[in-house]
Amino acid sequence: MADTPQDRRVRVQGEPVDAYPALAPETERGAVRRITVVGEPVLHRRCRPVTEFGTPELARLIDDMFATNHIADGAGLAANQVDVDLQLFIWDIIDDWGVRHVGHLANPVLEDLPATHRRLLEEPEGCLSVPGPHRELARPDHAVAHGFDLHGRPLTIEGHGYFARCLQHETDHLHGRLYLDRLPARARKSALREMADRQADVFARRAANASRLGK
Ligand SMILES: [Zn+2]
Repeated sequence: MADTPQDRRVRVQGEPVDAYPALAPETERGAVRRITVVGEPVLHRRCRPVTEFGTPELARLIDDMFATNHIADGAGLAANQVDVDLQLFIWDIIDDWGVRHVGHLANPVLEDLPATHRRLLEEPEGCLSVPGPHRELARPDHAVAHGFDLHGRPLTIEGHGYFARCLQHETDHLHGRLYLDRLPARARKSALREMADRQADVFARRAANASRLGK
């Protein structure tokens, strides 16, 4: 794979750190919330921007989103996936080069990158709100998201490969868009059928993970 980063340190809010625990502190603190499923209105409309920063409620929401993402074996999670109508997402993800990225971003705006700075990658994509299936979907392999941290400080997060896909997928969520909405009708229908067959197993695995973690 091209441009392998030399620095393999964990990136927290985009910044490399020398040491980081296996379980993110947010995950340790957080409680598990119910993950919304395709069809629930909160997933299909644009979320409201975060306007109150630095509140205990916002910090708790971020912790809970981390814990919920963790027990669901997720890479990233948007607030409307835990039934909260806010433009906020979190990630805890290993990229294509084995580098872990951890963080949260409110009110994200993706940079419109010129075609010379990206290429389309067609790879399987899934979603915790569409439990079970994965489907091939082409997305740009490079993304830059501008937004704010929980204290309201401006933050820019850049991703390549799988992490770029995550930043785009989560930003889509906050616009009321699922990856299913980007698939051809036939692929969308087959993904929904597969979800119907597999979701009970996925929910059981999440419950087992949660109880193992004491959540
Ligand atoms: Zn998703």
